[in-house]
Amino acid sequence: MALDFTDKEIYQRDFDPRAYLDTYYAADVGSFVTDEYLPFILKNLFGTFASGAIRGDTLIDIGSGPSIYQFLSACEYFREIIATDYTDRNLQELEKWLKKEPGAFDWSSAVKFVCELEGDREKWTEKEEKVRRTVTRLLKCDVTKSNPLEPLTLPQADCLLTFLCLDAACKDHEAFCCALRNITSLLKPGGYLVMGGVLGSSMYMVGQYPFFSLDLEKEFLERAVCDAGYVVERLEVQPRTDLTSMFLSDYKASFFLLLRKQMDMK
Ligand code: SAH
Repeated sequence: MALDFTDKEIYQRDFDPRAYLDTYYAADVGSFVTDEYLPFILKNLFGTFASGAIRGDTLIDIGSGPSIYQFLSACEYFREIIATDYTDRNLQELEKWLKKEPGAFDWSSAVKFVCELEGDREKWTEKEEKVRRTVTRLLKCDVTKSNPLEPLTLPQADCLLTFLCLDAACKDHEAFCCALRNITSLLKPGGYLVMGGVLGSSMYMVGQYPFFSLDLEKEFLERAVCDAGYVVERLEVQPRTDLTSMFLSDYKASFFLLLRKQMDMK
């Protein structure tokens, strides 16, 4: 039987940031580490930003959850990164890492991986400090609102990131397209949206709770981003080969999309 949509109130109540991080991102054993989602995304982010063509003042990450891996390459190219999420607990977990508080999640293995891609694994502590300096704000966001950062109105950003968020926040294709339009309003014309996540997933476990995931297909994604006013600059899909943790999440492939918002889109 298909899982009912997980409403944002349930995220606020039941989404345990620590269980999420331990399950999916723990060094060596997290399922996104062993099944190659994380290295796939980190390599693509490195490749995207290393060219130096995508840079600017402000970058907004939509639905950051308790994660920081998405900032490891981008932090070298933007003056300021704004992290956002719907739940208070996720933002608190993120803050714990940014402030180096006791009990913060250990991201060092992902940080070392990115430093190695950049040519110097030994620089990982400097990289962590760079992320901590660059992520200047943690804001509440709701992608179902026409201004996801309501009640704030921010100047449009040079770049947006979003990973594994829209498929969690949207119950069907129509809601996905609507959320995509909503977040696109936060981006300057000509700016970039970097999106990544999984295809063919119906659910993922966090602690004892299953969370709904919108089953995305490559063809739908291509149509949706095109309709939202983007040009696809890069689309990578990596089929999942390690099926040992299908009980945690039943996704079939990972995807990475680099999109450019058309100049004539407001
Ligand atoms: N980007 C992170 C977290 C993904 S988990 C990562 O890559 O690991 C999915 C996230 O979507 C959760 O943090 C959840 O709080 C957030 N979310 C769910 N509904 C949302 C909504 N309506 N608006 C914004 N974020 C939402």
